[in-house]
Amino acid sequence: MTTTFDQLGLSQPVLQALDLKGYSEPTPIQAQAIPPVLEGRDLLGIAQTGTGKTAAFMLPSIDRLREADNQTPFKSCRMLVLAPTRELAGQIAESAKDYGALAGLKVHSIVGGTSVNKDRNKLHRGTDILVATPGRLLDLIDQKAFNLSGVEILVLDEADQMLDLGFIHALRKISQLVPQDRQTLFFSATMPTAIKELVGKYCNNPVTVSVTPAATTAERIDQYLFMVQQDEKQTLLEMILSERHPVPGKFERVLIFARTKHGCDRMVKKLSQCGIPSNAIHGNKSQPQRERALGEFKSAKTPILIATDVAARGIDIPGVSHVINYELPNVPEQYVHRIGRTARAGADGIAIAMCAEDERAYLKDIRKTTDAEFERLDLPENFRAVVEGVGPTKRAPPGQRAPRANVKPRQGGGQRKPGGGRGGKPQGQSSGQRSGGQRSGGQGGGGNRRRNRRGGRNNT
Ligand code: AMP
Repeated sequence: MTTTFDQLGLSQPVLQALDLKGYSEPTPIQAQAIPPVLEGRDLLGIAQTGTGKTAAFMLPSIDRLREADNQTPFKSCRMLVLAPTRELAGQIAESAKDYGALAGLKVHSIVGGTSVNKDRNKLHRGTDILVATPGRLLDLIDQKAFNLSGVEILVLDEADQMLDLGFIHALRKISQLVPQDRQTLFFSATMPTAIKELVGKYCNNPVTVSVTPAATTAERIDQYLFMVQQDEKQTLLEMILSERHPVPGKFERVLIFARTKHGCDRMVKKLSQCGIPSNAIHGNKSQPQRERALGEFKSAKTPILIATDVAARGIDIPGVSHVINYELPNVPEQYVHRIGRTARAGADGIAIAMCAEDERAYLKDIRKTTDAEFERLDLPENFRAVVEGVGPTKRAPPGQRAPRANVKPRQGGGQRKPGGGRGGKPQGQSSGQRSGGQRSGGQGGGGNRRRNRRGGRNNT
């Protein structure tokens, strides 16, 4: 029997807010976490992003804050949510505003890269819910502009990522500043030893809720693999994005992961030289630049976003149809986070990995840790010619290049087949799209794992 939100014990204002959001039933982590959190228990949630964990901690917390009905503390907050990145903090604050819209709670967020003075001013009178990145929070505490004495509920979200980003000292310091009798809700996608130690420090006999075993690849994602030399990846990417080499699925928004900030910028530049607009998001980008890139991605004005891991962590944008791992991450768990950007909240998704010879060890690790099943895709038939510059597209001057870009839904090729789901063999392309190169014959597979359509599969 499926659980409903009504059965979880949430208040009317929260239920109404959920109605407005259009959520009809709780996700597994919500069903499991909400009752113990409402009872005031500490919680350890092992969950990836995309599982609905923000609501899992936010909904019952809002009700607990309402019930306790304490005054908003001066220069402090009642609920503190710590998040690793500015983007994630912003998203959590937005969700808190949505979920608590009828609860009359003040919500603020503070993140690095913005004016500290503005943060001081807005927090002067305190807030009910504060979502913060650890560094900025400590800045304000050091300046005596904020304190943690009012905290009733503390949430650590994506704790493993906070450690990866070097926030361990900040977290230790914060743990000493929050009141002992608070409630702690601790979330992490993975459970390395350092995280277990932190859990011991922060939580008191927590209820553990694990929705997908750590480092298990999201089930609804079909995963494909190109074996390609590192210095040929850019050409392959261009051919894929311009639909001169069809891949399964209809492009809506494409999120591409690169290892370095410089790599992201270089890719944007090269894509732009072939008439494919894209944006990059990484740690060297200013806050307004990040916001613009995310905004254009969300609205699909520029539906190609190139990101480093840090910047993409926690990005919650519906309609990411494809995640392309231009470079494989050296930590298998990171692969899970990356591909988790697609297939969020019940949607299906496609992940495409490009693996060079020297990344085989990473691929092996990913397979071992995540049980990922990849369907191997062939390189374009004319790939060598294009790479070596004898193919038409390599040599064409900018004005005469084949029309491409904008990741428009392709006509026929790679569309989801009615009733058959995605992953079907592309049916064809418009002549304009094809002008830059030939199509490869059996490309596109036919492998939708879950629907058991394994035809043409070539597992590597
Ligand atoms: P999260 O894992 O918290 O980042 O949530 C992932 C996405 O799922 C967000 O877009 C949420 O708005 C959405 N979501 C959360 N809970 C539900 C629900 N019960 N039903 C439908 N969508 C949800």
